[in-house]
This record gives sequence, C-alpha cells and structure tokens, in this order.
Amino acid sequence: MVAPQSKLNNSTTDFIIVGQGIAGSVISLSLIKAGYSVCVINQPNLSSSSKVAGGIWNPIVFKRLTKSWMADELVPELINFYEYWEKEFNTSLIRKREIIKPFTEEQEKNLWIKKSNDNESRNIFLDPNTYENFQLDEHYQVKSFSKVLHAGNLDVAKFLDYTKEYVKKNQTYLEEEFDYNQLDVSSTNVKYKDASASKIVFCEGYLISNNSYFNWIPMKPAKGETLTIKSKYIQLEKDIFNKGFFIMPIGDDLFKVGATYEWNELNDLPTEKAKQELISKINAVITTPYEIISHDAGVRPSVIDRRPVVGSHPVYKNIFTFNGLGTKAVMIAPYFAKKLVNSIQNNYKIDEEVSPNRFL
Ligand SMILES: Cc1cc2nc3c(=O)[nH]c(=O)nc-3n(C[C@H](O)[C@H](O)[C@H](O)COP(=O)(O)OP(=O)(O)OC[C@H]3O[C@@H](n4cnc5c(N)ncnc54)[C@H](O)[C@@H]3O)c2cc1C
Repeated sequence: MVAPQSKLNNSTTDFIIVGQGIAGSVISLSLIKAGYSVCVINQPNLSSSSKVAGGIWNPIVFKRLTKSWMADELVPELINFYEYWEKEFNTSLIRKREIIKPFTEEQEKNLWIKKSNDNESRNIFLDPNTYENFQLDEHYQVKSFSKVLHAGNLDVAKFLDYTKEYVKKNQTYLEEEFDYNQLDVSSTNVKYKDASASKIVFCEGYLISNNSYFNWIPMKPAKGETLTIKSKYIQLEKDIFNKGFFIMPIGDDLFKVGATYEWNELNDLPTEKAKQELISKINAVITTPYEIISHDAGVRPSVIDRRPVVGSHPVYKNIFTFNGLGTKAVMIAPYFAKKLVNSIQNNYKIDEEVSPNRFL
C-alpha cells in the first residue's frame, strides 16, 4: 500500500489520473483494485458534469423504444462495480428503481405493448396492460403507462466524496490544476513536475479541449441543467417518473428534475431559459405547490458519434484517455474501465468502436 501524500515529492506511481469526475473515479478505483498505485490530480473549481448529474441508468432509449447501446453488458457490470465499492466503503451508493413512463397517445401505448412481447426487450419493460393507474400528485392521475425495469441511480456526489477520501487515505491525491506544459513523456514513463509514473490517464470531461494530446477528438459537448424541488404532495417514493424529462425522489420530500440540452453556450452557469423550460414541464403534470431548492448546470462530455473514447494515444502509448461518457456515464464507466485495465494488464487491443484511433 502506498503512503498517503498531498504533494508529489519525487514520488513514483503506476498511474497519474487527471480529473476526478465519474470517469476519473471509476478508472482510479478499477486500477487500485487491480493492484496499481495511483496519483489523482483534480481541480475542484473547474467544470464537473458529474457534480450535477442525476446519476440515472436506464437500459431503454425512449425515443426509439429500443435497448440502449450494450445495455445487456453495461448494466450487470455497473451493478457489480458499485456494489463492490459499497462494501469497501461500507455505505450505500446505488438504488435500483423502475422508471414510470406515461403515454400521451394510444399509438404509443400500442407500440409498447408490441415491444414488451419482443424477445429483445421482454425483460426490460412491462406490458402497459399490467397496470391500472398511477397517482403522481392528488390531481394528476396517470391512466396509461408502462414501467422500465433494471433502472436505478447512483448517488454521484456521495460516490465522488467517498472515492476522494479513499484515494487520499490510501494513495496520492492532489487538489490542483494539471499543468500540461510540465508533462514530459518518454517511451517508458511520464514525468510530471518532480514525480514520475508509468502511465497517465486523462479524464477531464469536456475540458479535454485544453489537452493538446487529445483535443483532436471530435467532441460535441451538451450543456444540461437540473432543478431540485421540494414538495410534500408528489407521490413518488422510489420510482423515477419520465415524460420527456425526469422527476426522481431523493428523500426528505426532495425531487431532482431534469434535464435540458444546449449545444452552444458551454459553461456551468444556470440560465433562466432552462429554469423556465423545466418549470413548464413540471407544471404540466404537477398542480400542487412546490418550492425550488437549487438549480444546477454542467456540460456533458459527448462525442460526435455518441460513443466513449477509451484507450491510448496513437503515438504516445503510455498516455490514455477515458472520456466521452456523454449522457450515460454511470452505466458506461464501470464496463469500459474494466476493459481499459484488462487491455493494460494483458496488452489487449481496445475495441475500435471506442478507441481514440477511430478518428484518425
Ligand atoms: C444536467 C445533467 C444531467 C445528467 N444526468 C446524468 C444521468 O442521470 N446519468 C448519467 O449517467 N449521466 C448523466 N449526465 C452525464 C454525466 O454527468 C457525465 O457523462 C459525466 O459526469 C462525465 O464525467 P467525467 O468524469 O468524464 O467528467 P466531469 O464530471 O466533467 O469531470 C471532469 C473532472 O476533471 C477535472 N479537471 C478538468 N481539467 C482538469 C485539469 N487540467 N486539472 C485538474 N483537474 C481537471 C474537473 O475539475 C472535473 O472534476 C448528466 C449531465 C448533466 C449535465
């Protein structure tokens, strides 16, 4: 076990990890579990999409009513990963939930009935005829809806906090901005300031644009905003409600509501426009009083082809990126962290579909 440190002090480590959002956290823990030492460098004042994420995983793409990309592989792996760290941290991190999906038209309902009998999706959502009705608050009764199974959410803020404390205690953790100019890369190792490491993994989210080793990856970041509201009238206890936006109970009469999409103004500033958009969606289904407790914004690190980017630099083989988690970080990160660790340990080639090399 490596002695805890707060400065580099000529240290030698297996991996430097830059960024501690969901990506940096999941890859750090995966490397530690595989027996490697890590030094995590994270500047908490920089943009972090993870800090505002709803943390939901959902095996369905609602728009097309199809299974989400690789859901059969990603969901079991995310459960394994977060349950393992729940035991290590001795706390709860995930909550398995169902997603209530009301229908607006008869046609939509019929499609769900058809799909719920397909082999591909039979086990993911239920035949809408299974349900009688559902009461969202005292005025809004949903008569026609289905439920998506095998969904849930990660308490992202808690996961990030516990990971940070764990790394601080057992490895090396620095709260500072990584200075790319001080990185010296050779064919056998990397040197950063007065420390050296075998390899470095960059996990800066959409701020990958500041990293000259990987800023050629065609990102398409999407700003998103959420509200946290308080209401004693909303009758959701565990399940997530989704009608083109989500309402998720988080305890103490609080509900997380989201999310919006915006591709032009990429910053972490909450906007009145997004707030009004969410309020009008809430007001379309909830007519009882509620209070807005907080309003948050972040930028999703999405890639133009909507796939993650995982693997080494095409020239510098000891520099890696773990990024592009887009709208589905909670679901994608554990599986691909495992793939990345395997590829490093056993010299496997990362799937071309997620490799940075696909853009060369
Ligand atoms: C409104 C909203 C709702 C969302 N809801 C969900 C959801 O329900 N489920 C889901 O799975 N995903 C959701 N997402 C997407 C999810 O938040 C992202 O995919 C995920 O957080 C990306 O994680 P990341 O670690 O790659 O990046 P980030 O979380 O952005 O983390 C990057 C980290 O790197 C650090 N950093 C960057 N540059 C440097 C540097 N030079 N030096 C030091 N540190 C640096 C930053 O400080 C930050 O901590 C949502 C996103 C938004 C905006």
